[in-house]
Amino acid sequence: MALLPIKNCLDPVLRKQCQIINNIDGELVTLSEDMIETTLAAPGVGLAANQIGIPWRLFVVNMGVETDKDNLVTLINPEITATEGSEMGEEGCLSIPDVIAEVNRATEIEVKAIDLNGNDVRFEAKGYLARALQHEMDHLNGVLFWDSLGKVKRDILKRKFKKKLKEQDA
Ligand SMILES: [Zn+2]
Repeated sequence: MALLPIKNCLDPVLRKQCQIINNIDGELVTLSEDMIETTLAAPGVGLAANQIGIPWRLFVVNMGVETDKDNLVTLINPEITATEGSEMGEEGCLSIPDVIAEVNRATEIEVKAIDLNGNDVRFEAKGYLARALQHEMDHLNGVLFWDSLGKVKRDILKRKFKKKLKEQDA
């Protein structure tokens, strides 16, 4: 197990349309174990493969986020097959540290994906877990959570992020 360096939002890999995974092998299992460890250490609710520089359709997410019990799972080639409702809520991103914004998301979703054993999984999610899943899905399509905000709001957050970055480099 190893902690992986997380790419920030200035890295072009965060804008990649990620690729379908056709082969689940030992390398992929190790990668997801490392991603889970990295997410727990960050700490974060989820992490998409392109956030660590690998443009594949895979993310890990803490399914226990609503219950305070860590339950990190790996979802491969995930899709949202149905959505219901919408609500605003606060979101952050491990690739945009220290920036939080209100984002509109569906309140309930249905997800289908493949697990690390190659089995189909389908489940419903609501609340903060549904939000986290939509956030991670967006990553696989090269979308960041502030993209849905207006340009003015986004530019303010971008400046804040870049200022933090400079402070860290100094
Ligand atoms: Zn994110």
